[in-house]
Amino acid sequence: MRIILKWFIPVLFFSLLGYSCNRNPYKATNKAYKKQAKEYGKLLSKYPLNDSVNNAPAFVGTTNFSMRRPNFVVIHHTAQNSCDQTLKTFTLTRTQISSHYVICKDGTIHPMLNDLLRAHHAGVSRWGNNLDLNSSSIGIEIDNNGFETFTDAQVNSLIELLGRLKRSFNIPTANFVGHADVAPGRKVDPNRNFPWKKLADNGYGLWYDTTGIKVPPEFNAMQALRIIGYDVKNEGNAIQSFKLHFVQQDSTKKINDEDRKILYDLVRKYQ
Ligand SMILES: [Zn+2]
Repeated sequence: MRIILKWFIPVLFFSLLGYSCNRNPYKATNKAYKKQAKEYGKLLSKYPLNDSVNNAPAFVGTTNFSMRRPNFVVIHHTAQNSCDQTLKTFTLTRTQISSHYVICKDGTIHPMLNDLLRAHHAGVSRWGNNLDLNSSSIGIEIDNNGFETFTDAQVNSLIELLGRLKRSFNIPTANFVGHADVAPGRKVDPNRNFPWKKLADNGYGLWYDTTGIKVPPEFNAMQALRIIGYDVKNEGNAIQSFKLHFVQQDSTKKINDEDRKILYDLVRKYQ
């Protein structure tokens, strides 16, 4: 019996160790995350930075400061086939893409990055005069192949997450946008099944009410799109992004009378 125990305990120990390793395939990348975050921690305590004012002798450290905070949320669909595939993509150095959160079909939220750090999710983007959405936003990726509907579990988890972010960082209601909104012509996510109205009803993003709206003839729809935030350099692309968000059943790149009513109502809310 003693002999059996002598072998059994180490075997049990190593098989449990192997089991826990198998259960966390991201052990190595979690370690890499911590190492990189630590490096940025060191950078934060450094002064001056090479890329800013170079006058160290005149440095007088203020006692009053805090971390910069995100002011936007950009929502995406992953355009991949599973949550696992996306987690893998975001933990491979060579892809250089990431987001703060990934929401799986069963509603599981995978946090991937401290909210105060910059994820690489928006790419070349513009909203109003903000040309670097990555620096000012939280990126949320929702597992979806690009054409599917979003599951109730995903939407419920998302709404809960948005509530926390909105409260923590005091993010304005208007600043919950989609990737397509900030990158017209380049991105089409989240797809037209995304429940923007439901989100707006819950306080994340704005919505319109065209009841009794009369649009003056001089109203300029493209100017309204610009005021809302769209990059209107390419008018067709801007209209397409606007429709993906606000008129999802219409895939044309043309503004009709109903769209003018929507824009007339919306633009006043964004001003
Ligand atoms: Zn995207």
